[in-house]
Amino acid sequence: MPVVVPTTLAGVFEALAADPHAHLLAGGTDFMVEVNFGHRRPPGVVALRAVSELRSWRIEGDQIVLGSGLTYADLASGAIASRLPALAAAARTVGSPQIRNAGTLGGNVATASPAGDTLPVLVALDASIDLASAAGLRTMGWAEFFMGAKKTARRPDEVVTAVRIPVIDSREDYLKVGTRNAMVISVAGVCVCVDFTNRRVQCGLGSVGPVALRAPEAEGWVAEHIDWNARAVPDPRTYETFGSMVGAAARPIDDHRSTAQYRRHAVGVLAQRALMRLV
Ligand SMILES: Cc1cc2nc3c(=O)[nH]c(=O)nc-3n(C[C@H](O)[C@H](O)[C@H](O)COP(=O)(O)OP(=O)(O)OC[C@H]3O[C@@H](n4cnc5c(N)ncnc54)[C@H](O)[C@@H]3O)c2cc1C
Repeated sequence: MPVVVPTTLAGVFEALAADPHAHLLAGGTDFMVEVNFGHRRPPGVVALRAVSELRSWRIEGDQIVLGSGLTYADLASGAIASRLPALAAAARTVGSPQIRNAGTLGGNVATASPAGDTLPVLVALDASIDLASAAGLRTMGWAEFFMGAKKTARRPDEVVTAVRIPVIDSREDYLKVGTRNAMVISVAGVCVCVDFTNRRVQCGLGSVGPVALRAPEAEGWVAEHIDWNARAVPDPRTYETFGSMVGAAARPIDDHRSTAQYRRHAVGVLAQRALMRLV
């Protein structure tokens, strides 16, 4: 098959115009698994790895803009990790060092697996997604973009170019449970973000629904039980109730990795534990 390796985004659009059925390839850590199992037979490939503008990040107004080509290794340490600690924590749980060096944020977003580890973080932090094509750029909120398990609102001619995350004064973490401690797809994952700027708590749940979910009732309830001036939780029973409410928001299924019942339990325990660590 023809494989084109453009070095600019304009070159990517040109290559897609010349071969509209070509598949985009980033780190290949999802893509090549599908090829190897015979589930994907691309008529052509447009590789994104050499497009340096996708591998940068910047602050733009009140947003952090992360290029879709940033790898998990890029997210897991340095300046991005100190600004976005939950995203860094999620990146550190992904695969092995080899996968973290190759796999990208954009690939996780475009695959939109229910178990994608960055997705609960993006959902909790109210991220939006930049989509670019020869026709122009559009930005979509996460709720509009993630349509179902492995289903997004991206058109075939569009490239996920960046993820936008609001800058807030927060404490945030990502916790994950799997069938072993490393190199594991999530059975349940949770991102809790305590937002001191807006005095609210935001919670993103992974692997317990077709897409990453929020837990609006738990979020609203717990915000009323935090002493925002002291940055503390006066009544320790708050943690457990918050965990139960988060578990109630899950929409898990039984599958080869876990029962729905365990997933609901686990996501509640993780949420409770994350809140305890953060406040
Ligand atoms: C051994 C192993 C362990 C793994 N462990 C984890 C884990 O713990 N947690 C986890 O979440 N995932 C895990 N994964 C899955 C995978 O690493 C991630 O989903 C990764 O983020 C995919 O990114 P990529 O750059 O490799 O994408 P690719 O495999 O190159 O592409 C994936 C899909 O996204 C599309 N795509 C890629 N980039 C773009 C873009 N910029 N715009 C539009 N479409 C695009 C491609 O066309 C393709 O359909 C694992 C995979 C392997 C093989």
